[in-house]
Amino acid sequence: MRKTIEFANNLLPIHKFQNGTDRSVVIDFSRYNFQKQHFPKASRRDWKNWQWQIQNSITDLEMLDRILPLTPTEKTELQSLKVKLPLRITPYYAGLIANLGKNHPLRKTVIPSLNELKMSFGEAADPLHEEDDKKAPGLVHRYPDRVLVLLTDFCSANCRYCTRSRLVGQEHTVFDFDKVVSYISEHTEIRDVLLSGGDPLTLSDSKLEYYIQKIRAIEHVEMIRIGTKIPAVLPQRITPQLVNMLKKYHPLYLSIHFTHPDELTPETQAACRLLADAGIPLGSQTVLLKDVNDSAETLKKLFHELLKVRVKPYYLYQCDPISGSAHFRTSVDKGLQIMENLRGFTTGYAIPTYVIDAPGGGGKIPLQPKYQIDENADYVFLKNYEKNIYAYPKKK
Ligand code: SF4
Repeated sequence: MRKTIEFANNLLPIHKFQNGTDRSVVIDFSRYNFQKQHFPKASRRDWKNWQWQIQNSITDLEMLDRILPLTPTEKTELQSLKVKLPLRITPYYAGLIANLGKNHPLRKTVIPSLNELKMSFGEAADPLHEEDDKKAPGLVHRYPDRVLVLLTDFCSANCRYCTRSRLVGQEHTVFDFDKVVSYISEHTEIRDVLLSGGDPLTLSDSKLEYYIQKIRAIEHVEMIRIGTKIPAVLPQRITPQLVNMLKKYHPLYLSIHFTHPDELTPETQAACRLLADAGIPLGSQTVLLKDVNDSAETLKKLFHELLKVRVKPYYLYQCDPISGSAHFRTSVDKGLQIMENLRGFTTGYAIPTYVIDAPGGGGKIPLQPKYQIDENADYVFLKNYEKNIYAYPKKK
């Protein structure tokens, strides 16, 4: 059942839930209040416009402190901080964080901290050695049959643990699309092209279509993938126009960066549904982050919420050891424990592959708890999720 009520000259939707609660009204009102308080000149139309969201993003400390008030320690720390990754948060995502409360873990994922300046053991600016596998400006060829194309260095919200913080928001990244297309055309073994960045969905529809069209025209390219965080941080970008453009280039897959179940707002859910309804297969990529999402309970909730909007949990990444990332990294043992507490306790569709993207450029290496515990001449011995032992006969 759906109805509307009048509130300060705005018609806001009310979603009546079966149990009689109006949960989304609370969310809508608090968002509305946030918007009126911090962006008083913005209309509802502005708020829903993705370009307005980008133009009005938080990019300096003064604005950050006004909108997401900093603690005295944060203020002192941040004034002296010379960050390598610029600050950027969309008004929409700032509103979400503000409504979730000042102790919510998502805050830490977008607000800079002095910890970013601390170099710890094993950290590097480019731990995955992407620069070594660069075949043209903006093109990384690491695996045999697929390439990574960095279409832009811009993201609508900058994650403080970003693997490409050496590039994102730097505005000097050189990208030569003609060379990218020539390289892919000459290498007939390339059947899969991943468009990433930065976030390709921050490009205009026409620019993005130009790139996709050129790549789709290469005969041996079988599929295109786009890596993005847009549905979580700027769901307004997922417009019917964008989706209608993307669906012309099937098979086209979208890998969406999600961090926490609280990102699955009504707006984000609607964006995922729109994409899924266009036949775009959706997968999630989640970075395991200390004190943000490093518990089986939080991740299970996230993965369940994703499946409800037809996003398949795809990868759970151990956080890459980029410079200044120690405060985000959790142990591999903890990651394995989490996986052990997921497998068997929820549907297999809700379980992503836990991987380490190997430092030095070794690519993604899957990790999983030890389920095969022993073997003899006749059997392999296996431990199930309840820790019971079973024997599987060997083929003679
Ligand atoms: S969305 Fe991805 S590329 Fe952009 S800042 Fe976050 S981690 Fe980096």
